[in-house]
Amino acid sequence: TLAAAREAMASLIADVPDYPQPGVVFKDITPLLADHAGFSAVVEALADAGRDAEGNTVVTKVVGTEARGFLFAVPVAMALGVGFVPVRKPGKLPRECHSEDYALEYGTDTLQMHVDAVGPEDKVLMVDDVLATGGTLAATRRLIESCGAEVVGAAVLMELSFLPGRETLGAVDCLALEVF
Ligand code: AMP
Repeated sequence: TLAAAREAMASLIADVPDYPQPGVVFKDITPLLADHAGFSAVVEALADAGRDAEGNTVVTKVVGTEARGFLFAVPVAMALGVGFVPVRKPGKLPRECHSEDYALEYGTDTLQMHVDAVGPEDKVLMVDDVLATGGTLAATRRLIESCGAEVVGAAVLMELSFLPGRETLGAVDCLALEVF
């Protein structure tokens, strides 16, 4: 349940101030990953973003973005009974890829996905740990749509609501288990 997930997150996700740079409060998920009950509760709550009210899976793929997105997207895909698709930094995927640039605080970065990873028949749930500026999930959304697939929604553990993540992401339903 959502309540169990939030309780686990409250006790197992630590705030690390001024990491990786001054002024940033880094959310350290490693204690959560190390706790089977807490990790399971969070995965179940995230997976609900890919289910209807009767509990039926309504997506055909779960997409996760390296590296921390993988840690949650893979178990969510397993829980929903669908496949997982990785989005990676440039040069990591071996076959033909779509590429999308996105803005960082200083400069830009690029993400890639195999061109045949999803297709017009797919309904996709995107999963990541944190929705901050939204650049990562917005670029991931564009990659999925470049393949002709539909993005049904997104699910994150934490949303940093003082940043314009939802605005950047646009018209995609995003479940956040916790909002800061
Ligand atoms: P963004 O593209 O700005 O929405 O950033 C999203 C990515 O940056 C996520 O995949 C997170 O892994 C990471 N991230 C951003 N802010 C934080 C934070 N305060 N704590 C931990 N990870 C973060």
